[in-house]
Amino acid sequence: MQTHLPVKHRQDRLPWYTIYPPVPQFSTTIGPEICEEWLKRVRTRQAISLYLHIPFCRSMCWYCGFPVSITRRDASIDSYLGVLREEISLVADKAPQQLTVSDVHFGGGTPNLMKPVQFVALMEFLRRRFSFPETATIAVEIDPRIFKVELAEALEAAGVNRASLGVQSFDPVVQNAINRVQTEEQIALAVANLRGHAVKGINFDLMYGLPIRR
Ligand code: SF4
Repeated sequence: MQTHLPVKHRQDRLPWYTIYPPVPQFSTTIGPEICEEWLKRVRTRQAISLYLHIPFCRSMCWYCGFPVSITRRDASIDSYLGVLREEISLVADKAPQQLTVSDVHFGGGTPNLMKPVQFVALMEFLRRRFSFPETATIAVEIDPRIFKVELAEALEAAGVNRASLGVQSFDPVVQNAINRVQTEEQIALAVANLRGHAVKGINFDLMYGLPIRR
């Protein structure tokens, strides 16, 4: 790493690198008509990727740069899932033919705040509106602090084959500094449950280089 870069850019508000196009490129000039036009240009048999954002968390991590809402109420999530289905139908209806999906990614927020039955129903809905080859990658971001075996069963039933676990750090000092405290046992249990339910592709989100006084 070039050590002068953090110093050079420390005053800059750089785009969040995981979102493409980056947020500064978002524009109100991209409206429904343009999206519809882009959908019409998808060629027959050209596979698309879907990203579904579940913007709810139980508590705030201090490093977070994602669009999230902190909620203790499941009612917000329930009504959001209704709107999400409407959006899925809008996209599917505007496409000139049934679209083939090669990749689905559930991100957040915390997708595993969905109840198992909700997750299975949402995947069934997607499979009705789009065509999924057997090779499709279906990935879900997981918060190990609230991961339950019932959800692992639902992921398997829904055909999920990748999971991204928000681990960040095993160091308790770092965990306290970022307001994300979780034990090694919670993470190990989540991994074991995922592996035991056919989710073979597992990655950890990790952070490093946080300047912390000890
Ligand atoms: S769990 Fe993820 S999305 Fe939610 S507050 Fe923490 S970093 Fe942000």
